[in-house]
Amino acid sequence: MYDKPRPPLKFRTLTVQSPVDLAAPQNGLVGPIHFSTTYTRSANYAYETEYVYGRADNLTLRQTESFIATLENAHSALLFGSGMSAAAALLLAYDHPAHVIASTEMYYGLRRWFSGIGRFGHSVEFVDTTDLVALGDAISRKRPDLVWIETPSNPLWKITDIAAVSAMAHEVDAIVCVDSTVATPVFTRPIDHGADFVMHSATKYLNGHSDVSAGVLAAARPTDLWRQIAAMRAEQGVSLGALEAWLLARGMRTLDLRVKAQARTAQLLAEKLQSHPAVASVLYPGLPDHPGHAIAARQMNGGFGGMLSIRMKGGSCAALAAAANVSLWKCATSLGGVESLIEHRASMEGHGPHCPDDLLRLSVGIEDPQDLLADLDRAFQSTPVAMADEDLSLVEGKGNRP
Ligand SMILES: *Cc1c(COP(=O)(O)O)cnc(C)c1O
Repeated sequence: MYDKPRPPLKFRTLTVQSPVDLAAPQNGLVGPIHFSTTYTRSANYAYETEYVYGRADNLTLRQTESFIATLENAHSALLFGSGMSAAAALLLAYDHPAHVIASTEMYYGLRRWFSGIGRFGHSVEFVDTTDLVALGDAISRKRPDLVWIETPSNPLWKITDIAAVSAMAHEVDAIVCVDSTVATPVFTRPIDHGADFVMHSATKYLNGHSDVSAGVLAAARPTDLWRQIAAMRAEQGVSLGALEAWLLARGMRTLDLRVKAQARTAQLLAEKLQSHPAVASVLYPGLPDHPGHAIAARQMNGGFGGMLSIRMKGGSCAALAAAANVSLWKCATSLGGVESLIEHRASMEGHGPHCPDDLLRLSVGIEDPQDLLADLDRAFQSTPVAMADEDLSLVEGKGNRP
């Protein structure tokens, strides 16, 4: 956990140059990967550095953490083996039963995990955090320890106002953690909007190449809870490995370029798909008719992210057929990589109010936008829109795996 001075450089420059600043004493432009799990003592039996043992101490890990802290304008950051373990680390560090208010709409794996935190003595209430009246009501009723929000949120890309939520939470001394996986620090730095913690699935945009599983927590300031999270990670050894930390830093050097290109293409696709005859609606915060557009325009700096969803006129049958018919888009879960992915989300998480059966989730990559659009157009044309209603029942069983 470094607290590194931040020069007044632009974000893109920081993404490219931060690892260079951290390179080895040999002046390599790119630093080495430090694999050692132990560090020698000197003749007087003292440690000459703060490094003792690999479970807690690894230079490569700390360098990537410092890099992320710089991008998030955080005091410091901690890396974990996955986004899920980063999120869990926050809840598991409480030394008393904590009450959590969380967004109703969020990454389904995390929602499921939150639903089970009773076994650790904690409790959770899910609230639509885009509705500040409902949230204010829940906050004054429950006086939570933690308010957890995801914005834009999976898979409808609703927008929660981080500054407004933080102000309301701080009134009752609750802390706010933002799952900022989809926004990335390119578009939103939640700490600048008043949040106390930022969480990322670094598996997604931060790494960007679909080849590292990782998670981050970053903190605005070094509170007791933060120190407890760091201590527990050192005790439990749930930090990210050195190789993955190095790969992650390499991926992040192109973060600004990648994410801005992805958002530009997403905006273009959202606009074009709105008028496609096979598409019922497009969910993307960059569209003026999206309910969170005004807040997103204020909160997100220069773009609306690379994720959008479309709802097909032909229902789940048409959605599944389209996903089967793409060739350039890859039909897979996950998001944030350089390659474009399409997913019938209800097949993954089961359908419900936050995941309609006719929804396709699109993670836009960095391919040529015209190629991406043409591939979707081809896939939609082979979609049996007219047949969809009677075919729905056939797909129902296949589409609703829990
Ligand atoms: C993927 C994801 C997670 C979980 O992260 P893992 O790295 O898969 O553990 C959490 N939140 C969001 C928004 C995600 O997309």
